[in-house]
Amino acid sequence: MADAVVIGAGPNGLVAANVLADAGLSVQVLEAEPVIGGAVRTEELVEAGFRNDVFSAFYPLAVASPAMRAMELEHWGLRWCHGPLVLAHPTPDGRCVALSRDLEETAASLDTYAEGDGAAWRELMDLWRRIEPAILRGLATPVPPVRAGISLLARLGPYGLLELARTALLPVRRFAEERFDGEGAALLIGGNALHSDLTPESTLGAFFGFVLAALGQTHGYPFPEGGAGAIAAALARRAEARGVRIRSATPVERILVDGRRVTGVHSQGSDVRAPLVLAAVSVWELDRLLGREPAVSAEPDPAVVKVDWTLDGPVPWTAPDARRAPVVHLADSLDALSVYASELSRGLEPQRPFVLFGQYATGDPTRAPVGKETAWAYTHVSPDADAAASADRMTDEVERRAPGFKALVRGRHVALLPPGRVNGGTSQLHNQFVFRGTRWGRPRTDVRGLYLSSSSAHPGGGVHGAAGWNAARSALRVRRLSTPRRDGGNGRSRA
Ligand SMILES: Cc1cc2nc3c(=O)[nH]c(=O)nc-3n(C[C@H](O)[C@H](O)[C@H](O)COP(=O)(O)OP(=O)(O)OC[C@H]3O[C@@H](n4cnc5c(N)ncnc54)[C@H](O)[C@@H]3O)c2cc1C
Repeated sequence: MADAVVIGAGPNGLVAANVLADAGLSVQVLEAEPVIGGAVRTEELVEAGFRNDVFSAFYPLAVASPAMRAMELEHWGLRWCHGPLVLAHPTPDGRCVALSRDLEETAASLDTYAEGDGAAWRELMDLWRRIEPAILRGLATPVPPVRAGISLLARLGPYGLLELARTALLPVRRFAEERFDGEGAALLIGGNALHSDLTPESTLGAFFGFVLAALGQTHGYPFPEGGAGAIAAALARRAEARGVRIRSATPVERILVDGRRVTGVHSQGSDVRAPLVLAAVSVWELDRLLGREPAVSAEPDPAVVKVDWTLDGPVPWTAPDARRAPVVHLADSLDALSVYASELSRGLEPQRPFVLFGQYATGDPTRAPVGKETAWAYTHVSPDADAAASADRMTDEVERRAPGFKALVRGRHVALLPPGRVNGGTSQLHNQFVFRGTRWGRPRTDVRGLYLSSSSAHPGGGVHGAAGWNAARSALRVRRLSTPRRDGGNGRSRA
């Protein structure tokens, strides 16, 4: 018997386990896979000496999120690396958008697309500095984020808050038209929005794309020395130091419910009893474990093809800035992004995929032998895509901008990841806030003691740990309120 069971040892599950253990609870984490970390893992996928991030790779959300910051992972062995730039987006005319932690460098790059766009970016970053703490707090608070809203109101006033709300709802295309003259800024925001499934025409795309770009401006897109798995290892080390027991290769097969209350989980022939169960798995997996049909409204984000390469040297990008950036976005124009998105939404295989490309040599020499490179990329595809053909098209996109790339390829690993794997559900407005996850966007479910604590819950995908943090803190609040007090009262009330 444990005080709590956490299902799944991805970043959200591990953060949840830490928060519960910090409060003195005995916690068991059960992970289906032989390796912990969920979508935060590193392996030598192709050949020895080359370390590939199997899923996620770059972590602005991890360094900015209050939930992850509270884990103080640097004290548990994590070391962050940065490249000289944060992100580059080369365009066919030979120019290249550069996002740098140096504001002047970013602004100068945007000015090469249209004089004055640098100033517009500086203005946006002034706004960002005022709203960043409240936005980040909003991530690490269950819906509705009341205190974050009050803080924004205090900083911006009613009119400013209304204006921010309108701006947040804009699609990237309209936002770029209102704020900038050149295409560089539109691509910077549009490419970042497509880290989710928010296209240039999606409501909310500007907010998502801007927040990610602003985090990059402020914190960079860091990556852990040695590979993404270092994040999971640090979280596990911290949890185990607090007595958390983490069992890998232990899939949960059923969540045990008595009446309307959770009583534990069933795994590998035995029951693990606990009054509290935090399901750090997708909402579809939660339904399966409860023996329920998946809710029609739980729309997944698109499937992706993920490619990992081992290379005989750094990628020979034509654009010098692309050689300095760990993250490179590949799309010719905002219109090209719209075409790609439209093909996807019609179930077609995009012929010119938008490629999110990662390379590590400029920031972390431990990923590959001296002089070599390890590269990472993914693109959205239709669920029944031919993964090898898709990987070939992604390779062609790199070759177009880095002639000679194909000749450097030593080997590659290709995987087709099913819908819902990246973000635990679409990031479109109809699956955000009160619409996301289970009950009005809150981590609680309709079974007492059972919480959804994965990216399927608010605030969604990304390695920020906030869904695990929100669920654990909600569970602790309810537990505190329903624990009998020493004076004889039972302190019961609604949380
Ligand atoms: C290809 C790819 C690239 C990405 N890139 C980035 C990036 O660069 N930066 C970023 O911030 N985010 C990125 N993401 C998103 C991010 O990795 C996820 O949103 C995040 O990992 C979600 O965390 P989680 O803990 O909710 O779920 P997961 O990380 O998916 O972990 C869930 C865990 O639960 C386990 N599990 C499932 N069912 C059971 C069961 N029945 N019993 C026991 N265990 C179970 C799984 O094995 C898994 O370990 C990327 C994701 C993918 C797939």
